[in-house]
Amino acid sequence: MSLLFPEYCEDFKRLLDSVGGKKIAVAGHMRPDGDCISSQFALAEFLRQAGAAEVVCVNQNPVPYLYENFIGNEKMLDAETFDDPSFEIAAVDCADYHRINESLCKRFPEPLACIDHHVTNRSASKISIIDPKASATAELLAGLALDAGLEISKENANRLYMGIATDTRQFTTTSTRAKTFETATRLVCAGADSSWVAIQLYQRERFAKLKLLAAYLQTLKLHFGGRLCMGFLPEGVYEETGSEKADSDGLVDYARSVNGVEIAALLEPLENGVKGSLRAKTETYRVNEIAEKFGGGGHLAAAGFTAKGYTLETLYPKLLGLAEAALKNADKPRD
Ligand code: 5GP
Ligand code: MN
Repeated sequence: MSLLFPEYCEDFKRLLDSVGGKKIAVAGHMRPDGDCISSQFALAEFLRQAGAAEVVCVNQNPVPYLYENFIGNEKMLDAETFDDPSFEIAAVDCADYHRINESLCKRFPEPLACIDHHVTNRSASKISIIDPKASATAELLAGLALDAGLEISKENANRLYMGIATDTRQFTTTSTRAKTFETATRLVCAGADSSWVAIQLYQRERFAKLKLLAAYLQTLKLHFGGRLCMGFLPEGVYEETGSEKADSDGLVDYARSVNGVEIAALLEPLENGVKGSLRAKTETYRVNEIAEKFGGGGHLAAAGFTAKGYTLETLYPKLLGLAEAALKNADKPRD
């Protein structure tokens, strides 16, 4: 069978060869999504196969409820307090190393490895495998493991399939390509059960999440003739609805789903700033460039930021201006 990621075979082999006898902490970005959880626990299993002495997974936040059934008997350790200097860090799905957790970053300033698919990644790891064309870090990681001839357990096949399915919104994003399906097919052959994965992801919703969604929908407003749809999570909404922060994942997709909407946004006030999620219908809008204006980043059609020092009132008009410019820019003919 042909190799899926021939250009990264050498680097991945270097990583596998380098972990023998080592202790590795696999870190993912804060407020992890499906791709992040999938990639963290899948890489942990691969590094154990490669002879690592001990592998743990660390994250600033716990495993979100929807992904709990994908981690088996594994645990997620708290990144804020993880301070064992005998470990080295491998970061996955982190557009920016700082997104693992500020204090973990300071304690481990020189990560061993970084595996990611964000176009904005400027990794300074010893081994960096970054492919912005990969639809998900899980697609890249699955491909690397298949190419390297590693064993893919049924559990890891389900995990990696879940990472791809979530980051591609069930194989519908612009980043979904032939290689995405090919990798998913190979995972199914290795034991992934697509309908089991779908039940875990889409038929275990908690009622509180629906109430959170309802609160977000109430705030939605259309701007610029219906091309931008923006809404926010009102202060105290988690307590009111009984939901939790992880439940906000995916809400912005509802704003984007409206006919005629080209860019969608979800804003959430934090203690000392505002978190923003941006989505566009196509990559033309480069919402990652808007996110970068607030110190964030991500992909051309899906990006995010945490704008420190802002409030909803100060951020909202600024974002309106930037979104308007992105819409106008997208209207211009390109060479
Ligand atoms: P979300 O809106 O779901 O939080 O994030 C969308 C995409 O943007 C994800 O790929 C995520 O990794 C990236 N992203 C979200 N927040 C940030 C941020 O603060 N910095 C960077 N560099 N990327 C982010
Ligand atoms: Mn991802």
